[in-house]
Amino acid sequence: MSGFVPVSLSQFVRQYLKKNKGADAETVRAGVEDALAAWRQGVRCACGNPIWVAGSAVAGYGCFRCITGLAEPDGDPELEEVCGNPFFELENPEARFAQVSEIIRNHPQDYRDRLEEIGFDWQDDDYDLQYEEEVNEERSAVPETENQRRLISFLENGGRVTRRILDAYLEERYTDSPNLPLIRRYFKKANPQLKAILLKGLSLNPTDLDLLDDLAYFSEFDSMLGELIGFYTDACIRETDMERFSLLAQDFHMNTYDQGYDALQELSIIFPSGTKGAVVRQLFDTVDQYAGPEDILF
Ligand SMILES: [Zn+2]
Repeated sequence: MSGFVPVSLSQFVRQYLKKNKGADAETVRAGVEDALAAWRQGVRCACGNPIWVAGSAVAGYGCFRCITGLAEPDGDPELEEVCGNPFFELENPEARFAQVSEIIRNHPQDYRDRLEEIGFDWQDDDYDLQYEEEVNEERSAVPETENQRRLISFLENGGRVTRRILDAYLEERYTDSPNLPLIRRYFKKANPQLKAILLKGLSLNPTDLDLLDDLAYFSEFDSMLGELIGFYTDACIRETDMERFSLLAQDFHMNTYDQGYDALQELSIIFPSGTKGAVVRQLFDTVDQYAGPEDILF
């Protein structure tokens, strides 16, 4: 593939250290922050092109061509903030910016269409479509089995979470033909009864990977990052099987990283040595921050 590959700051530092043994993490990180700050201020390469932030972090301010001598990036890293900026590749970003401002000012009702006319690509179109489809499915979903009726009645009417309710949830979760849109609806509403079921399950089995994953999904619709971190941390401390511990730590990392929490960093402080410490250090080198968990059911 050609072009840049977007990377986060931590990811870049990690990749760089892997390829350059002996480099100092703090120095590399400071270099990236410095180059990012320069880029934000509009600092250019001596040739006039925008700087390549990732390269500039370790090679001094310059554009990709001047730093590497190559015409085009081909899978080379660039900081995601820079890649996500619609102006980053443009020859003349100031003129482009003026054009966009003009369109938004003069066509407030349909500026999206107008921007598309001048070549803007809304990255989230597919996502919107999929989301809309899901919402439609959820709206028309009805309980179809006795188990689903029991579960929905509890989610709608509340009450104490009994073993029977928890089992109804687990049965739905692990059946071969779950009514996904029906249950997903309650996740998206951050239904407190649903949360109570998950917490009940975790009180009985605090290291359950699936329930923790469900709680993480729930937290996307509820602000409860601190609580989620608490449950994952507790699970990591309790778990004695190292294979499961490794899975927990990976999920913990992936389910909180986008919200700005560095689980592996925190775990390395809790487990500075020993077998768990070694597992965490190994994950540090291998976990890809962009691969989200794939076993979210709903
Ligand atoms: Zn240049």
